[in-house]
Amino acid sequence: MTEENVNEIYTTGKFLKEKGINKFNISPSLNFGRAEINNLSYNNETLLEMQKQLRKIENIYPNYVKIDSELIDKAKKGQKCGAGTDTITITPNGDVKPCPIANIDDFYLGNIFNEMPYDNISKIRELDIPQEKYCKNCEYTNFCLNCFVRGMKQYTNIGDKCKWGVEVMQSNDQLIKKLV
Ligand code: SF4
Repeated sequence: MTEENVNEIYTTGKFLKEKGINKFNISPSLNFGRAEINNLSYNNETLLEMQKQLRKIENIYPNYVKIDSELIDKAKKGQKCGAGTDTITITPNGDVKPCPIANIDDFYLGNIFNEMPYDNISKIRELDIPQEKYCKNCEYTNFCLNCFVRGMKQYTNIGDKCKWGVEVMQSNDQLIKKLV
């Protein structure tokens, strides 16, 4: 999903449902790599429009939108997505980050050519992901719940208005190369 096609979420979801699809999910283009270079990422208004369109679909087809029903349920239980717990990612130059889409500037755990960063990997396993206890009243829940990387993106965008960022990430800044 980009700024250019966010208005098509509702019509796309409705079209696919009518074609017999049982679950619908969308993924916002994050501002890394080519999306960043080509200006194809979302902004805060895009996210709010995304939420509006997804809710419109959910009102007509309950349990069809995967992001609302399953991710929120997982996040309510405080379950982690697996980044830094089930898997880690090692880049070609040896940098370690919790997941493939994480920006190394946001989540730098160490470099295996210096030393395997076991301590930082253990620390990230203990961090709370964006979940209901921090994000309950936030307007970006559909975007961030259960995902370190998306939470960090929004924390960078909205600063101290992000309760998860303030309570979880600010106190763990030794894990992070660059903070807001
Ligand atoms: S912006 Fe922060 S508080 Fe809001 S949903 Fe995302 S992580 Fe949670």
